[in-house]
Amino acid sequence: MLRIGRQIVEALSLHRGLRGDPARREALRLLDMVGIPDARRRFDLYPHEFSGGQCQRLMIAMALAGEPDLLIADEPTTALDATIQAQILDLLIQLRAETGMATVFISHDLGAVSQVCERVCVMYAGRIVEEGSVAQLFFRAAPSLYARSIRRDPEDRRSPPAAHPYPGHGSEPETSPRRLFLPAALFSRGRSLSRRAPSARHIGRWPAARLFPAGAGKRARRAKNQSDRGYAAMTALIEADNLVRIYQIRRGLFAQAHPVRAVDGISLALKPGETLGVVGESGSGKSTLGRMLLGIDAVQGGEVRFEGKPMPQLKTPEWRALRAKMQFVYQDPLAALDRRVTIARQIGEPLEIHKLIPKQHQETRVAELMAAVGLRPDQAGRYPHELSGGQRQRAVIARALAARPKLLVCDEPVSALDVSIQAQVVNMLRDLQEQNGIAMVFISHDLKVVRNIADRVAVMYLGRIVEEASSDVIFHSPQHPYTKALVSSVPVPGKILEGRVILQGEPPNPANRPSGCAFHPRCALAQDVCRAVVPQLRPIGNGRTAACHVVAGEAAAIAA
Ligand code: SF4
Repeated sequence: MLRIGRQIVEALSLHRGLRGDPARREALRLLDMVGIPDARRRFDLYPHEFSGGQCQRLMIAMALAGEPDLLIADEPTTALDATIQAQILDLLIQLRAETGMATVFISHDLGAVSQVCERVCVMYAGRIVEEGSVAQLFFRAAPSLYARSIRRDPEDRRSPPAAHPYPGHGSEPETSPRRLFLPAALFSRGRSLSRRAPSARHIGRWPAARLFPAGAGKRARRAKNQSDRGYAAMTALIEADNLVRIYQIRRGLFAQAHPVRAVDGISLALKPGETLGVVGESGSGKSTLGRMLLGIDAVQGGEVRFEGKPMPQLKTPEWRALRAKMQFVYQDPLAALDRRVTIARQIGEPLEIHKLIPKQHQETRVAELMAAVGLRPDQAGRYPHELSGGQRQRAVIARALAARPKLLVCDEPVSALDVSIQAQVVNMLRDLQEQNGIAMVFISHDLKVVRNIADRVAVMYLGRIVEEASSDVIFHSPQHPYTKALVSSVPVPGKILEGRVILQGEPPNPANRPSGCAFHPRCALAQDVCRAVVPQLRPIGNGRTAACHVVAGEAAAIAA
């Protein structure tokens, strides 16, 4: 409700007694300091007129207004895209160097912690269970089990990313004191946590390999399982050709509508048992694409084929029959579930709607589904608000699996969950998918999670796929400049910031798409041809396709 300039001036007058012109000058200096471009013109704008990353910069400017000796940053980058997160982390490091203030950086993301901090306290159930320098925590041969369970380093073969759920349910509301004690027992090999000083010896000799099987081994097992089932030789389960979705956006009741191409000519194919990760910044069209694949969002151009046949029209009997074979898992499980209906009834709903099994067998099937996703039988009669976030997402997944689907589209299924619960849910999804041979489209802005679960990855930018390849190829040798920036912006525990490509600026407004290559205003390799000609997705070897004139080696030829 208040203009951003006024909010900063308010902090300046309360803490430093500045008013009038001096306060305005100081506020403009702070806006410059945190990297708000054109601060003088934007001084009188409202917060909703700024992007998420810029709002976070404004918050930092407000915090700096009192010239603090201590800055407490509570999950300052959690809600941001990876590229913007990298910018904010850089800003915090730079400001600390310039002002000399101390920083308490609170985060569940150990990658970010390792970039920003010198010293780390690991907390569990209200207590500090480990404390040490970043070097001790991330480079030591034997960090504690809990620290390992929440660090998600994709390069670390000893503890695969997002694949080492910690036993128990952390601080979820239903967790009994006994369950909370279980990790303590693991930490201290039977000694009570309260009797253990933070600097006490860690559990270096614990047979961690038994608890966290190596990532490479898991991937190999998964590949073998897929080849045993002959997925590679199968034809595509779902194919999309040149999909287009255009929204008409109006700014104001009587304003003229502007077309926004949310999905702009996307083609892809997915085989049974395969997982396609779809990544990109907010507004890149990932969710629209997912909904179009399932027919939830209208296809305005192009075609989707399921098992070789074009998708029928919405709401027709053929479409209803097909819907049982394809299911959606939403980001927010509380919104996806009906708060007035018990979990068991909601899980059994698809069985009733699609008349899949006789009524007398439904209870048994629901019990099987609950067991498959790790819900206890006594939770059947509970309502969604009586379960924790992780349990609600398990219930949503059980409901999606009830109709034995062939395709699952998961849209940010773990981003609303705590990091250790994320690992449990991702592992469960992967196991269920392997057991049932389900094809999966996994949409996420969290590259670490995608790397862990996806066989192939499609990188989206402003409604188009700019690079597609196997997960290992994308994460080990990204080629498209945007993919390089995206992969490099993910903070990895124990890796230093040096050599990272930090993307400047924010994604352009989709209603005002740049000419030629939409990425050219942010691309360090952009040439004249990039501003004029839209690059097409082409094979560039190693089973990879990319849409970039420079990477495809065609820039000179087009310019000529
Ligand atoms: Fe950059 Fe040009 Fe490639 Fe676009 S086409 S990503 S602007 S080099």
